[in-house]
Amino acid sequence: MSETQAQQTQAHQTQVPDSRSGGCQCGAVRFKTHGKLGRASICHCRMCQKAFGGFFGPLVSAPEEGPGTGLEWTRGEPTYFQSSVNIDRGFCKRCGTPLTYRHPHGVELAIGAFDSRDDLAPQIQVNFDSHIPWVTAIFEAAKREAADDAAKQEQIISFQHPDHDTEQWPEKGLHL
Ligand SMILES: [Zn+2]
Ligand SMILES: [Zn+2]
Repeated sequence: MSETQAQQTQAHQTQVPDSRSGGCQCGAVRFKTHGKLGRASICHCRMCQKAFGGFFGPLVSAPEEGPGTGLEWTRGEPTYFQSSVNIDRGFCKRCGTPLTYRHPHGVELAIGAFDSRDDLAPQIQVNFDSHIPWVTAIFEAAKREAADDAAKQEQIISFQHPDHDTEQWPEKGLHL
C-alpha cells in the first residue's frame, strides 16, 4: 500500500462518521445524525410519560456538535414545546410523533424514530423512582397470536413513512 493509500485509508477510518437517519410517522420531519451517538436510555419521569404518551421516554443522545458531526434536519423541522425552564421537546406538528428532548447541554432523540434501532438498547434507566409500578412486569403479559393478520392489514393501508429516506413523500400524492 502506498503512503497516499495508507493516509486515505486512515482518513476514511477516522473521518467518516456513522450516519443514521430517522423521522416522524408521517414523513414531514426527517433527520440525519453524523457521528457516534451517545448513551441510550429510558427515562421514567412523569414528563417523559406524558410527552411520549407511553410508560417511559426512550432517548439517545445525538452526536456532539463538531466538524462533520451533529444533527441535521433533512426534511421539515420539529415544533417545540417548552416543558420546563431549560427543556424543550420537539415533535412533528402534523402527526404528533415525539422526536427530541433538548436540554442546555445537548439534544437527545427518540429511539423509536430512528430508521434502524436494533443496536440502540438502553444502557441506563433515569428517574427510576418515578416508574409506573407495573412497568417492570409488562412483558409477562400474555401474547396474542393473531399478530400476522394485523401486520398484513397494515401493509395494505399504511400511510406511514417507510424506514428510509425518500425523494418525495407522500409518494403518490396522498393527502394525509
Ligand atoms: Zn409527522
Ligand atoms: Zn424524563
